[in-house]
Amino acid sequence: MSAKIIDGNAIAKKIRGELAIQAATLKAHDMKPGLSVILVGDDPASQVYVSKKIKACSEVGIESQCLRFPSNIEPSKVLALIHKLNQDPLVHGILVQLPLPPQFNVREILESISQSKDVDGFHLYNVGALVVGQTVFPPCTPYGVQRILTHEGIVIEGKNVVVVGASNIVGKPMALMLMQQNATISICHAKTRDLAQYTILADILIVAAGKPGLIKAEMVKTGAVVIDVGINRLADGRLVGDVDFQAVAEKASHITPVPGGVGPMTVTMLLHNTVQSAQRTFEKREQTWQALRENDRYHFYHSDLAAENE
Ligand code: NAP
Repeated sequence: MSAKIIDGNAIAKKIRGELAIQAATLKAHDMKPGLSVILVGDDPASQVYVSKKIKACSEVGIESQCLRFPSNIEPSKVLALIHKLNQDPLVHGILVQLPLPPQFNVREILESISQSKDVDGFHLYNVGALVVGQTVFPPCTPYGVQRILTHEGIVIEGKNVVVVGASNIVGKPMALMLMQQNATISICHAKTRDLAQYTILADILIVAAGKPGLIKAEMVKTGAVVIDVGINRLADGRLVGDVDFQAVAEKASHITPVPGGVGPMTVTMLLHNTVQSAQRTFEKREQTWQALRENDRYHFYHSDLAAENE
């Protein structure tokens, strides 16, 4: 078997086109989607990720701003800015680029973001909402994987899904999302004994460990769908995933490449969450206006009645 190589760039482009239309419609109703990104310090990888996010925003018509702080900034200053952004009606999404310098309590920062603007989905409220199947902002990377599977017409229900990696931002939410679609899930991590005995059973294998070459062909069932979330820079400068791509592509039915697989979908889902946040704000505004109009009509009608009875 030779796998279908899933083109994450093409899927992302299609979704971004749909988001651009939705953003333009909102803008026509005076509701321009807005994202604020906070970047602390000068970590080169973070700078690249943030500039990609800002560029992607402008492509779909999201108003974005990057707010930068030096690495020795007092956390209270960042918290004060987040409180201000929470109140700003032009901001529909707030994202703090991780990692943060050591003086920060990351949880405190994430919890300070309004639940209704938490487009990364990392606030405890949104994590809890995901656990009970009431997701507001799905975390971007696992949501990107879920959208890839849907786009490729891959049935989830009843499938054996193995997730390698159990982080809070990828592995755990990924497992929950697919469990809610009635898959049977196994989550593996660094302490898992004999990883291959799990991976070989996977109809859908999702790998997010950050270990190049971790998944070899003999660990994969023939015909499996293999999604490689890992991003690793090798000593020779090449970017690779966690899966031995060439060999596994000979056995799998579908496989995502690195780069060009899950990566473009992650940023796209951030755009999705920001536009949906603006959409919810727009719908709330419309409901409020509708209620006010009805209230006016009610008073008008009753004052007319009162005048007639005078
Ligand atoms: P992380 O926080 O470091 O978590 C890695 C997870 O993998 C942990 O649960 C760890 O187990 C597990 N693990 C490590 N070595 C393992 C091994 N040999 N066998 C089985 N499990 C192992 O990383 P992350 O943030 O989830 O990211 C994972 C990878 O995805 C990285 O390469 C990252 O760059 C990439 N990533 C890509 C995107 C994208 O858009 N494509 C987005 C986010 C992340 P323990 O819990 O036991 O330590």
